[in-house]
Amino acid sequence: MTALLKTEGLTKHFPVRRGVLRRQVGTVQAVTDVSFELGSNETLAIVGESGCGKSTLGRALLRLHEPSGGKVWLQDMDVTALDKRGLREARRHMQIIFQDPFGSLNPRMTVRETLAEPLLLHGLATPATVRAETDRLIDLCGLSRWHAERYPHEFSGGQRQRVGIARALATRPKLIICDEPVSALDVSVQAQIVNLLQDLQSELGIAYVFISHDLAVVRHIAGKVAVMYLGRVVEEAATEDLFDAPRHPYTRILIDSAPRPDPTAIRHRLPVKGGTPSALAMPPGCAFHPRCPLAIDRCRSVRPELRQVGQSRVACHLAEKVVGMEAGRAEAEN
Ligand code: SF4
Ligand code: MG
Repeated sequence: MTALLKTEGLTKHFPVRRGVLRRQVGTVQAVTDVSFELGSNETLAIVGESGCGKSTLGRALLRLHEPSGGKVWLQDMDVTALDKRGLREARRHMQIIFQDPFGSLNPRMTVRETLAEPLLLHGLATPATVRAETDRLIDLCGLSRWHAERYPHEFSGGQRQRVGIARALATRPKLIICDEPVSALDVSVQAQIVNLLQDLQSELGIAYVFISHDLAVVRHIAGKVAVMYLGRVVEEAATEDLFDAPRHPYTRILIDSAPRPDPTAIRHRLPVKGGTPSALAMPPGCAFHPRCPLAIDRCRSVRPELRQVGQSRVACHLAEKVVGMEAGRAEAEN
């Protein structure tokens, strides 16, 4: 089976320029060497702290940020090799929704006009059928005809996100990249939007790349998870495996520091040092070593490759030891 979406070594580095001559003084390594596969109807979550490169990755998939290296495949189509016209056609099948749908909705267009635009542009409706098609999208996303003739500023955040989703669906995409789609919403509204996305997936077979820093939401929606740290995937696993037995120290710290429904289930926590370093000054060896409670000498000079450990892929020299390890024992072994 060919994957619906596949990346090979996807990389996006931004030059940093300063001064009148705009001389390059450094490089932000926003995304480096990211490879994964996603099937139809599947959800892959990309998680990590802000600044870890997850949004850049989402945009690079669509070439909203032009990758600096690597490949993106949509089924048999090499997205990275497409010319402008080909890319426009490909984007019909790969849509993106953002945290703040307001920023991407035209304030002067009603919902119906907003939905009609891509339909007519891509020849998916004619002036004769466009009304029925926009009604279909409005129904699919749990909006009413009342919404159809109104403007984005008249809606709540949750309703606006429904409009954003309806517009993404207009072109009948196979894949939607969801960049923190519920982060700006109240918790009760978050659940409604997450449920809507899940219903749409089972009804239409859409795949999602779900970018989020919220592990509770990710656990609920995603079948597999890729954890990013400073631009690289450090662990990728089926959601259950990742939450039950995180193998990368950073994954474990993320999970342990998230609010959990059952406080009695707390494991011994691994202590984390300091904040995220800048992607401008990447630490040598394992980029996590300055903060890692388990770091050994080798971690400071040798970068761990992403490799298969059990059912997961993990980039850590000590991945075999992390599962079941308690913080006190880990430090004693160092
Ligand atoms: Fe920590 Fe070393 Fe593993 Fe990096 S490779 S996460 S520094 S133990
Ligand atoms: Mg972001």
